[in-house]
Amino acid sequence: MNLERMLHSQGFGSRKQCRALIEAGRVALGGEPCLDWRYEQDWQDTCFHVDETEWRYRAQVYLMLHKPAGYECSQQPQHHASVFALLPEPLRLRGVQPAGRLDQDTTGLLLLSDDGPWLHALMHPRRHVPKRYLAQLKHLLNDEQLHSLQSGVLLHGETVPLAAHDTQRVSERSLSLTIEQGKYHQVKRMVAAAGNRVEGLHRAQIGCLALGELPLGAWRYLSAEEVLMAT
Ligand code: URA
Repeated sequence: MNLERMLHSQGFGSRKQCRALIEAGRVALGGEPCLDWRYEQDWQDTCFHVDETEWRYRAQVYLMLHKPAGYECSQQPQHHASVFALLPEPLRLRGVQPAGRLDQDTTGLLLLSDDGPWLHALMHPRRHVPKRYLAQLKHLLNDEQLHSLQSGVLLHGETVPLAAHDTQRVSERSLSLTIEQGKYHQVKRMVAAAGNRVEGLHRAQIGCLALGELPLGAWRYLSAEEVLMAT
């Protein structure tokens, strides 16, 4: 693949725009501007600069993002900012998509990629990828509510009850729970069906991936091992 095509594949715009970047001397390889858009090499893991920013060639990208409240998981948000605004433009332009959505007021772990089959595997109900949430509740959490969540609640429009796993009381008004599906407003609806109300929701973990020290609003690439572990 030549340099122009490589930049295009990494989200730096149309091929014409990528050629213009190269010819303007804004693309450097090994610290030196490369003005030849036809230049070819095997790009796997190659570092390059566009202006002052260093990038590494990635055939596909896999990211985790610590989603703040007040962001919608949509390219065309209705009422709030888009989570895509938290990513650099080339990542947006290469078409990364989230593995399932979080509500605008939910914080926490969001995985994104441009690898369709990987996203599909993460979201497929038959894979049962567990997602762990921490919910702040309006009312005191009682044993009956915990029991209902563990044994399963029937949500409107569903034919079978949905149960939470590893349900743990964290405090009088907060709870940690794990679900395997990703239905619309699932945690909020399950908690409501059990007789309480979610006032704050945070996704702490997907499969064995957790946010760790990633600050609110920040993102990072997943390691190759994490990509494999996620599904
Ligand atoms: N369940 C919800 O109700 N909201 C989310 O954002 C995620 C899971």
